[in-house]
Amino acid sequence: MKAHIKPKPTVFMIFGGTGDLAERKLIPALYNLFLAEYMPKEFKIVGLGRTAYQDDSFREVLLEGVNKHSRSGKAEKDKWAEFAEHISYLKADVHNEKDYEKMEKIIETCDASWSEPSVIIHYLAVTPQFFPIIAKNLAKMKLANDINRTRIVVEKPFGHDLESAKELNHLLKNIFHESQIYRIDHYLGKETVQNMLAFRFANALFEPIWNRNYIEHVQISVTEDIGVEDRGGYYNTSGALRDMVQNHILQVLCLVAMEPPVNFDAEEIRNRKVDVLRAMRKFGSEEIRHNTVRGQYSEGWVEGEKVVGYREEKDVDPDSNTETFAALKFFIDNWRWQNVPFYVRTGKRIHQKSSIISIQFKDVPHLIFPSKSTESWQQNRLIISIQPEMSIRLQVQAKRPGLDMILNPVDMVFNYDGTYSTDTPEAYETLLLDAMKGDQTLFMRGDQVETAWELLMPVLESWESKKSISFPNYSADSWGPETAEALIAKDGFHWFTLPIKKSEKEKK
Ligand code: NAP
Repeated sequence: MKAHIKPKPTVFMIFGGTGDLAERKLIPALYNLFLAEYMPKEFKIVGLGRTAYQDDSFREVLLEGVNKHSRSGKAEKDKWAEFAEHISYLKADVHNEKDYEKMEKIIETCDASWSEPSVIIHYLAVTPQFFPIIAKNLAKMKLANDINRTRIVVEKPFGHDLESAKELNHLLKNIFHESQIYRIDHYLGKETVQNMLAFRFANALFEPIWNRNYIEHVQISVTEDIGVEDRGGYYNTSGALRDMVQNHILQVLCLVAMEPPVNFDAEEIRNRKVDVLRAMRKFGSEEIRHNTVRGQYSEGWVEGEKVVGYREEKDVDPDSNTETFAALKFFIDNWRWQNVPFYVRTGKRIHQKSSIISIQFKDVPHLIFPSKSTESWQQNRLIISIQPEMSIRLQVQAKRPGLDMILNPVDMVFNYDGTYSTDTPEAYETLLLDAMKGDQTLFMRGDQVETAWELLMPVLESWESKKSISFPNYSADSWGPETAEALIAKDGFHWFTLPIKKSEKEKK
């Protein structure tokens, strides 16, 4: 196997090392990077938390997590033992300055025995209330001051609204340089999302038609079939707009709509993305009334089982005004996209779990075929499916075999599963490796986050100030409220869905 260019020696300080994210995502991702020989020879992973663990008992918990959640399946005994030697546990409270001194000692010990000074990644896998105190203590204990060595990874949510996002940015930027701050949105690490850049900018075919002259409208749907599960308490303070639209969906929309960057530098790509957010049409009260829809799920049946409505979920206010579904129509006021609607929707307890981008092209300028040939006519569409299927399909018209000239839509499909035999890495593998290498391309810059909040604040404020009288307004296992259908139908379109393949249905 060809050796990879490895990152420099690295110390990972995982605040929240005993938490769910570390167990399900971070440690399995680091283990898979280790198996694929992407980890540097010298590295250390330190899990921090208040729970009482010894190194060994901590490693055992992590091993269970890997066995359960790693894409590579159960860990091999020898490989795990080799990896686990790099893991240790530090019982620590984020408020306690003395505990930061212990962190400093660990870093000093690594530096003393390693071939070169390490990169130090402080990973904040804790709830956002702790972000400020950790950042402040890192600064106070001088664990943040080396611009070239120290990085901080901040998990979502980044702020609860524009004001809190600005406050957090202000606090972090007083301590760290922007080049040290990695605001994570795991969606950007997904293979299909990254492929948007390759697809758009490595092919000459699409750029000439990637504009208002040829594209009629764009749709982005991110739907989940599950409810809020055990996150009811958190979700009730968040809602679909904050949880999905402000981050994942707007990031994906930027990749669809951005201008071609001059090169593949992180700053260049992030500049082009923030240009899109800046060009997005602001929501006034008229736009909120006509171009936004909110929903909340009621009880229903999912695969033969009765499920409760949102207001009956654990830790949810029985009179909750929180939306579990949001659909919006955006416009981007620039030359490329003037008057092309971008429809987005997201929701919980939706009939199908999927993340799809659908780009619908304008109709042919003149139809030469008789009406009986074109009964199943469909304008050209490009469909990028992020999950569960990872594919790109171009829908074109073709002649159906036979003696009559009958046209019907057919798909030209690029499917990851059929094309590549290698397993695709998890988003966290990509992002953790990038953080080690110091590549910020797939991380959100401070101004991006703030501009995204700025765009959505009028909608959030309007929804919060006016209690919905129609909630709950869609049943579990449906496609969301009727009003979401109307939002797009009044422009003559309908939401696009990909049929679920049998194997995917069985996987559920
Ligand atoms: P979690 O399971 O509740 O874990 C919280 C962690 O914080 C635990 O390790 C806990 O350790 C630690 N902690 C709490 N108080 C502490 C204190 N005073 N001092 C030191 N450590 C303390 O939360 P999570 O699900 O892992 O989520 C963590 C962050 O990641 C959140 O911001 C979340 O929004 C984000 N996130 C999570 C996921 C996911 O899949 N879980 C996905 C995306 C983003 P002790 O109890 O041992 O102290």
